[in-house]
Amino acid sequence: MTARLRLGLAGSSGRMGAHVRALAVESFSDTIEFVGGVSRATNVSELAPLCAQIDVLVDFSAAKQMSIIARACADGGCALVSGTTGLGEEEMQELSVASRLVPILHAANFSIGVHIVARALAEIAPLLKEKADIEILEKHHRSKADAPSGTALFLGGVIAYALGTSLQDSAVWPCLPYKDTPRAQDTIHFSSQRGGDVVGTHRIDFFCPEEVVTLEHQALDRRVFARGALQAALWIRARAPKMYTMEDVLS
Ligand code: NAD
Repeated sequence: MTARLRLGLAGSSGRMGAHVRALAVESFSDTIEFVGGVSRATNVSELAPLCAQIDVLVDFSAAKQMSIIARACADGGCALVSGTTGLGEEEMQELSVASRLVPILHAANFSIGVHIVARALAEIAPLLKEKADIEILEKHHRSKADAPSGTALFLGGVIAYALGTSLQDSAVWPCLPYKDTPRAQDTIHFSSQRGGDVVGTHRIDFFCPEEVVTLEHQALDRRVFARGALQAALWIRARAPKMYTMEDVLS
């Protein structure tokens, strides 16, 4: 019988941290042993003792923590499953360096539904290429720190790739007001709404001359992300050092 996965948590005092811990203890206790969590680490040595005791660290914290977390995982020899969003090039580079030593999976969204939407977008986008104005609207709770959301950028990236371009060359935000210039063509526009306790809604509109094609995903409960992250943690346990995506887990 395989031993239970020894799990650690970064961002343990946050909304997502609370869900990951509760779900691990309540629903995954046959396969996962919850070892401990850290709310906020100020240096690698604060996190290192935990990383040395676990198989996988699940992280839902803040972009500012990414460097410390990636280095602590590489030093401690544990895998990392991170859902933290708002990462810049520097943080992505830290993950890439650490992935030479330990397996790492970063995903802006751990719900399966969003990845199904992503697959559909990859099919739809090239079919409408010539005529569609593409708009991505995301809605989140009032405390969300980054905009556009990591998921909106992920979905935009999928569309851009399917159209043979890149997010860098086609993304536009903020998009209002259109005062003196009309909407540019061949661009993907992002907009964000913040309010209340909205868990996460992403709506993609393809505005064509005589019709509109819309895809929308709504996360109704944060547990959907926690469940996906724990499934990814179980999956990544036996993998070789490398950067992985949720596509790898789902396929
Ligand atoms: P939260 O504000 O409730 O919790 C943040 C946690 O990170 C806390 O434990 C806090 O102590 C810790 N932290 C460490 N350093 C910090 C710093 N410098 N600033 C702020 N907090 C710091 O946030 P949350 O809703 O739990 O989300 C955490 C992260 O996970 C965010 O980046 C969010 O966008 C992301 N998220 C990802 C998914 C996904 O599926 N990938 C789903 C939901 C949220």
